[in-house]
Amino acid sequence: MHSENAKNEPGESRNFIEEIIEDDLRSGKHTSIQTRFPPEPNGYLHIGHAKAICLNFGLAEKYGGKCNLRYDDTNPSAEEQEYVDSILADIRWLGFEPANVLFTSDYFQQLYEWAVQLIRDGKAYVDFSTSEEIAKLKGTPTTPGTPSKFRDSTPEDNLAFFEKMKNGEYPDGHCVLRAKIDLASPNMHLRDPYLYRIKRAHHHRTGNDWAIYPMYDWAHGQSDSIEHITHSICTLEFVPHRALYDWCIEQLGIFPSKQYEFARLNLNYTVMSKRKLLQLVNEGYVNGWDDPRMPTISGLRRRGYTPASLREFAKRVGVAKRENIIDVGLLEFCVREDLNKTALRRFAVLDPLKVVITNYPEGKIEWLETENNPEDQDAGNRELAFSRELYIERDDFMENPPPKYFRLSPGGMVRLKSAFIIECTDVKKDASGEITAVHCRYVPESRSGQDTSGLKVKGVIHWLSAAHTRRAEVRLYDRLFQVEDPAAEEDFKKAINPDSLQILANAQVEPALTGAVAGEHFQFTRLGYFCADPDSTAELPVFNRTVTLRDSWAKMAGK
Ligand code: ATP
Ligand code: MG
Repeated sequence: MHSENAKNEPGESRNFIEEIIEDDLRSGKHTSIQTRFPPEPNGYLHIGHAKAICLNFGLAEKYGGKCNLRYDDTNPSAEEQEYVDSILADIRWLGFEPANVLFTSDYFQQLYEWAVQLIRDGKAYVDFSTSEEIAKLKGTPTTPGTPSKFRDSTPEDNLAFFEKMKNGEYPDGHCVLRAKIDLASPNMHLRDPYLYRIKRAHHHRTGNDWAIYPMYDWAHGQSDSIEHITHSICTLEFVPHRALYDWCIEQLGIFPSKQYEFARLNLNYTVMSKRKLLQLVNEGYVNGWDDPRMPTISGLRRRGYTPASLREFAKRVGVAKRENIIDVGLLEFCVREDLNKTALRRFAVLDPLKVVITNYPEGKIEWLETENNPEDQDAGNRELAFSRELYIERDDFMENPPPKYFRLSPGGMVRLKSAFIIECTDVKKDASGEITAVHCRYVPESRSGQDTSGLKVKGVIHWLSAAHTRRAEVRLYDRLFQVEDPAAEEDFKKAINPDSLQILANAQVEPALTGAVAGEHFQFTRLGYFCADPDSTAELPVFNRTVTLRDSWAKMAGK
């Protein structure tokens, strides 16, 4: 899966775009480079966009160039200010700052004037045929197209028609402006593509100024050219558009930006198209664009992913020329690696079971030291209260354990991490047979760090003193989709995992976690990495599990 790209580790070898850039700088074709990230503000950015951001901004950083953010806002109906704002916030959160924040709509007047120039040169015409007629006359990849009866209108007539289009004298869809290129081209994109359409819609920036809007192919290359973009990097589906990109720039004789294509990021168990993500939001399958199950940058942030982990992920994925699918396990591997170094360790008991230490004096409290982060000596230690009544994880106890069960069971011993060895002496149940408490004896001379008991126990579990905990809500996540390639399903929503969110309302945590600020990361010992959610209140902290500790991907990949 990702192995073919793993070669592109920094320092080891350059990816093909870096090779092109280095050639261009060496040959003097360019003295510096300029890239751009061109999102359409019709949704929140996702992990695929994060890849494109890291690539474009990363190249500019590496070669001392500049990278613009350019909102590709040529389609008024789907675009909103909320999306514009979230896009810039996500780019900054990832750790990049655009050299300029620009909008394609700022170029509408220039693009219009260039269309007039093209018409004057006899290279564009207004076609009043219906879209069905135009589609039919285009032919097929193996048969040439047929000219529409408007193809040979004079430039004077076309200028007048285009003027009327612009002035709103025709209804929506009444006609289009088309480039006059080659109806026999094997590249269907060159068979007189649309340049402008009539659409009356309120635009988020230009309001009702325009009744016509440029098509992607007329807007994109020229916008790149206006900004002197040297390397216009996009995904593979634009390969057949490249000839048109070059044609437009050539006809106008403007700065020759060049388009280069790489394989888009695909992740298994994930849908990535904004249209599908919008459906998940609008139809209530998730709780908004930033739901921690979403592959959006805002969802990943809320889940507990760090900017460094996403940048590392983008680096490891590399830049490929062929479509491929990346295992979502690689993303999890990257965040584990980062949080392992930085996250403070804390004890939390998600599903508490009471333990009574019958030989521990009532009212006595001992404070036991434990490390905040064994990976970071500067993180120091903290003290945990130990007392007669404790909580352990309900599934760290089994009444009838299978062989080789090393956690707590009747007559068995286990070590409480950073504390004592305990031995289970009795099990208490309610009328329905549900276990309500476990009675144990502790071994006073087995205190961690000062153990003179000579006992050897295999299991180590976490715990909390019952009188010293705070309640917290913990949200555990599973994959949002049950199949590897949900987009390939007839209805991707039928592949949604009904159990992707589990809410534990009665988790118990160390008191120190009460004041956790949204976005703070922790490792809950033995349970995984967690991140405080913005839903947290002073009374009730809420934690999202970012990822478990188990690293099945790394084992699988032989890391
Ligand atoms: P989607 O199809 O997911 O809605 P899009 O391509 O329509 O995405 P844009 O806003 O047009 O979204 O994308 C902005 C930039 O991000 C483009 O240059 C596009 O090529 C790039 N991009 C989008 N999706 C991916 C992806 N999965 N992997 C890499 N780059 C991507
Ligand atoms: Mg797009």
